[in-house]
Amino acid sequence: MTERIYYVDKVILDSIKTDFDLIEDKSWYQLYQHKIDKTFWRLDKYDKYHEQFFVRLDNSDNWIEFDDKELRIDLLLKTRGVSDKKCIWNGCYKLTLQGLVYCERHA
Ligand SMILES: [Zn+2]
Repeated sequence: MTERIYYVDKVILDSIKTDFDLIEDKSWYQLYQHKIDKTFWRLDKYDKYHEQFFVRLDNSDNWIEFDDKELRIDLLLKTRGVSDKKCIWNGCYKLTLQGLVYCERHA
């Protein structure tokens, strides 16, 4: 796992199953620890309305409250790319993500 954050797909789920131990299961999240390098990761529980993410934490303190918003925005930008159209959010002048009507902040 070389990135700090991943979209959860079948490959990630398989990796979680084989390479990670489930440490805690709370509200909307699950806390995992990598079996070898001992890093802590947080998995969003499945919800059909939202994208699921798997994000690396600095440690297991306050793991529920860890704010991954900036990481999600970076990931969106990296995977989607930007178009040449303006975001339709009122007062926003950023360019939209490819195929969307919103920028990475408002998507
Ligand atoms: Zn915007």
